[in-house]
Amino acid sequence: MNQNRSSHKLAAILEKADREEILNREEISFLLRLKPARQTNAIFQTARNLRHRHFGDKVFFYGFIYISTFCRNNCNFCYYRSANTHPLRYRQEVSEIVEAARRLADSGVHLIDLTLGEDPEYFLDNRQGFDKLIQLVKAVREATKLPIMVSPGVVPDDVLSRLAAAGASWYACYQETHNPDLFTKLRPGQSYAARLAKKHLARQLGLLTEEGMLCGVGEDVEDIADSIEAMRCLEASQMRAMSFVPQQGTPMQNLKTPDFLREILTIAILRLVFPDRLMPATLDVAGLAGLQSRLAAGANVVTSLVPPGFGLAGVAQSSLDIAAARRTTGSILSELEKLGLRAASAEDYLNWVENRRKKILGDPAKEKIPC
Ligand code: SF4
Repeated sequence: MNQNRSSHKLAAILEKADREEILNREEISFLLRLKPARQTNAIFQTARNLRHRHFGDKVFFYGFIYISTFCRNNCNFCYYRSANTHPLRYRQEVSEIVEAARRLADSGVHLIDLTLGEDPEYFLDNRQGFDKLIQLVKAVREATKLPIMVSPGVVPDDVLSRLAAAGASWYACYQETHNPDLFTKLRPGQSYAARLAKKHLARQLGLLTEEGMLCGVGEDVEDIADSIEAMRCLEASQMRAMSFVPQQGTPMQNLKTPDFLREILTIAILRLVFPDRLMPATLDVAGLAGLQSRLAAGANVVTSLVPPGFGLAGVAQSSLDIAAARRTTGSILSELEKLGLRAASAEDYLNWVENRRKKILGDPAKEKIPC
């Protein structure tokens, strides 16, 4: 397509997005293929406008606590895969987790994200292993009064119900790709269908869901478009796109670090397609240094804030910026100011969660597009 036609087509798609009409598959693929800065900047600008329409200048903060770094799985991209001998493995004590959550709440985060690998201790104990996790959700909720996101992997159905009953608001479980063949390469021995079904169940149970895709793991533009479609079918409330970071000791350790533009562009396109949802700007890939570009692409949640001094790890970057206390609310407020953004209040976040839950449960047919 020549430059003129491409520019006209881009302008028409951005006007459509600005009217909040649903972009079709071909339009999403077209946007994902754009490279010239003049064109991608126009996408970022529209994404920021849409974010401003729905969220003003307010940004949410998520505190992150990696409660167990043990995992029974062997995902080829993951530092914490069971076969990797490099990571420091720990299971944090309940009292320490509650204390870390309190510290995060005092610092002004809007949500506590409790993440763990598929820890065999939880999965092998006739399901009673999950009692500790249920108690933990209750204790953190009680101590902080904040909404809680749980990221425990593919847990049994009844455990998901119990997590919802214990007070969890969110279930995060990333497919990472919606190409089943690529999924099998990334997550050997795991079921694509079972992982996806767990998110549909979570939604039926009244949990908000977060879906995620990894950028730079062998996917093509059509795979990313598939992920966006899958997120729409799932009615995910938060969508994350994150660049792959090669991890020492894994089969993918020698893969090239992907072009950062793919993640940034994907975040912006997610905003065009889902203007009223939450999109994370993670500190887990490039730390504080990578925050601005993600927010400038339309993200509105700063994730992976980790309290220093508790010996806690990150996921993609197991230690980046943590000990230096650069993954704290104090460090990011000045970065927000530079972009004309500010921290939302706790009430803003609670209202958003409550309204979203009503929307999902109240009239599921209303926003449902045939999948
Ligand atoms: S991505 Fe999750 S399930 Fe896979 S190895 Fe890592 S911690 Fe385990």
